[in-house]
Amino acid sequence: MMTNPFLFIFFLLLSFFSSPAQSPRFKVAAFYSTKGEMDHVDFARDGLYFFDLIAAQQQFTFDATTDWTNLNDNYLANYDVVIWLNDFPQTDDQRKAFERFIGRGGAWLGCHVSAFNLPDSKWKWFNEFLGGAYFHSNNWPPLPAKVVVDDRSHPVTKRLPASYDSPTGEWYQWTPSPRENKDVKVLMSLSKESYPLGVKTIIKDGDTPVVWTNTRYKMLYMNMGHGNKIFSSQDQNNMITDGLLWLGGAERMEVKK
Ligand code: ZN
Repeated sequence: MMTNPFLFIFFLLLSFFSSPAQSPRFKVAAFYSTKGEMDHVDFARDGLYFFDLIAAQQQFTFDATTDWTNLNDNYLANYDVVIWLNDFPQTDDQRKAFERFIGRGGAWLGCHVSAFNLPDSKWKWFNEFLGGAYFHSNNWPPLPAKVVVDDRSHPVTKRLPASYDSPTGEWYQWTPSPRENKDVKVLMSLSKESYPLGVKTIIKDGDTPVVWTNTRYKMLYMNMGHGNKIFSSQDQNNMITDGLLWLGGAERMEVKK
């Protein structure tokens, strides 16, 4: 109880003149791991910094956790978008909670190794979610590569040039190519000029989509996510920003310099 009338008026004026707290437009939770391949851990660390920054600029909340048991209904109920930076669920409970999250309209941004799956992987739902793509091969060592934008009218790619040099990464080829799925929209692919790509292990040719969405879900997969150079391209950063905003259902706000 505020008994002092002057104090009461003071707080009244304070609340009147201070700008109202801007409510977040959507809420994002990133799941990641600090174990495993160093290049994947480096990417996650850079990703935390990047997403924190654009969360402030674009008015959404960004939380991150290494505890994958947070893939449960209670935790996920707080979020609109889930990012997997460098890992994937390990238990049936976590997988089922994720399926329910997507089923009730939740959105997913998957990076690089988070989509790794093979024909003998037991999580068939996830393979269907991804558009039917199984990991097939990769280049080694990590290298930069020219990528081409398949559709520049899409909200995720609208700020991109027709092609650009994507920073050093490990590129995955998939079988079947997700492009063969009629529900999949491929947004970006390796340029034919990038072949042969690799030294020890080489992607020689073929169709290599690197960013796509399965239009039956709110989802976006991007191959980027290996090493500490991923966020060194402004074009690519724009694509990642616009991708996350698209998943969150929000328009991009002009950033004040
Ligand atoms: Zn990798």
